[in-house]
Amino acid sequence: MGLSDRTQMATLEEPLKSTQPLKNYIGGEWVESQGRLVDVVNPATQKVIGRVPISTKEELDSAVDAAQEAFPDWRMTPPLARIRCLFRLRDLMEEHFEELSRIQTMEHGKVIDESRGETRRGIENVEVATGIPSLMMGYNLEDISKDIDEYVINQPLGVFGIIGPFNFPLMVPLWFVPYAIATGNCVIVKPSSEDPTSQAKIAELAEEAGLPPGVLSIVHGGRDVTNSMLENRKIKGIGFVGSTPVGLDVIYRKCGETGKRVIAGCGAKNAVLVMPDVDLGRAMPALLTSFYGNTGQRCLAGENLIVVGEGLSEREHELFYNKVVDEFTAAASKIRVGYGLDESVQMGPLRDKDKKAKVVKYIETGVDEGAKLKLDGRNLRISEGLPGDAFLNPTVFTEGSVDMTIGKEEIFGPVANMIRAKTLDDAIGMIESSPYGNAASIFTNKGKWARELQYRVNAGNIGVNIGLPAPIAMFPFGGLKASFFGVLHPQGRDAIRFFTDPKVVIQRWM
Ligand code: NAD
Repeated sequence: MGLSDRTQMATLEEPLKSTQPLKNYIGGEWVESQGRLVDVVNPATQKVIGRVPISTKEELDSAVDAAQEAFPDWRMTPPLARIRCLFRLRDLMEEHFEELSRIQTMEHGKVIDESRGETRRGIENVEVATGIPSLMMGYNLEDISKDIDEYVINQPLGVFGIIGPFNFPLMVPLWFVPYAIATGNCVIVKPSSEDPTSQAKIAELAEEAGLPPGVLSIVHGGRDVTNSMLENRKIKGIGFVGSTPVGLDVIYRKCGETGKRVIAGCGAKNAVLVMPDVDLGRAMPALLTSFYGNTGQRCLAGENLIVVGEGLSEREHELFYNKVVDEFTAAASKIRVGYGLDESVQMGPLRDKDKKAKVVKYIETGVDEGAKLKLDGRNLRISEGLPGDAFLNPTVFTEGSVDMTIGKEEIFGPVANMIRAKTLDDAIGMIESSPYGNAASIFTNKGKWARELQYRVNAGNIGVNIGLPAPIAMFPFGGLKASFFGVLHPQGRDAIRFFTDPKVVIQRWM
């Protein structure tokens, strides 16, 4: 369902009823952490809905030891037997589909349909990983010399660490975990401490699915757990998704120091181009989803909306720009904001008060730097009875530029910065001026313009007449420039290569 066409429905039942502290799942046991506890707060209601431990280095190290111990048996388990656990996990995720989705809405704030989409994408990654017996096969060549054959076998490496971001708490770790365990590795997940419960639930389901102790562990916490993973020499590789400063300065650098392989998906500043031949009516739902879906907290979210005057006179470009501004602003102002468990709501809150404060600061900076605030999301219009602490309504700036702070930095909130570009060439120049390279989209019917963007823009994901969602599970997901560090990507074939080492065997037949 698009952001623009919902009908009034009732609020759904909340699945999280206890605020018992979460436990770590280590070596097949649910273990109470010795670390301090932090409240998990529902951003829409501001109620405490759980408590998460900030685990210690010792606790992480014990999970690594348990994983190391589980590895020899797990890697010797035939792939067909390994994936039977994944088939059962998949079925259990389907059975618990609604619960998993509602947990995400309670913890993160995204609306329930967005959570359902996230759960679906998580399940799809489990499904793709069940193809491992075919997907991880090697290859051979006979007679490389007389009576000698040569072949490649793909083998698991051992223990991996996965570090998740707050914005897709269920899906992102599943870009890695199913592939890691299907290929015969053992894995430790550190979910974001801001919304950790859906990963705890996945571990519960994996246990029920019969995954042997130590194959999947969950250690909750913050930067200490991340740093302990990076320092632990028994961990062979790290899958990380989060911001660029952490991804580059902490993860990528330390993995280099300790010789770990790494995938680090990082931050973004994405542009969406609207060309003069656009059918605005058809494009609008996709534009709204791009800028305001997940309350703008997506690494693929549009932040700069560039209205391109290719082939138009100055006067025509002015009229076209004003039309896009008016129609986009009118549609954005109608988005219903509230608690995501109310199915009539179209946009939830930001994850927390601090994230709202950060976005509000960007709005102030935008005004100070001369952009025009056409729609001010600080004027809250939210469902009755909700505290406004973490909420912002959709915001629209006009007369922006890529030189302003709001045009350069990742805002990660429901703010659109509308910019003019005289030509497609100018617009591509604006996109390329960014250090980031995660995504760019174009709305046009002209193949030539779309191909120009696809050909010239250094971004890992290109959209044509679509606000970009994450690619489906068979495809790699990653960006370029400051949006990604590493070589292989999460999901699909890339993930299988990341979690395996090719070994070449040469055999003389005696
Ligand atoms: P973050 O970098 O703050 O945190 C990511 C993870 O790293 C969390 O588990 C956190 O506990 C840990 N962490 C944070 N600071 C750390 C430090 N100094 N040392 C060690 N560990 C640390 O990111 P976030 O706010 O959770 O997520 C939002 C960011 O993630 C945005 O920049 C967004 O663009 C990016 N993101 C990228 C992708 C992608 O595939 N490229 C996907 C989703 C999100």
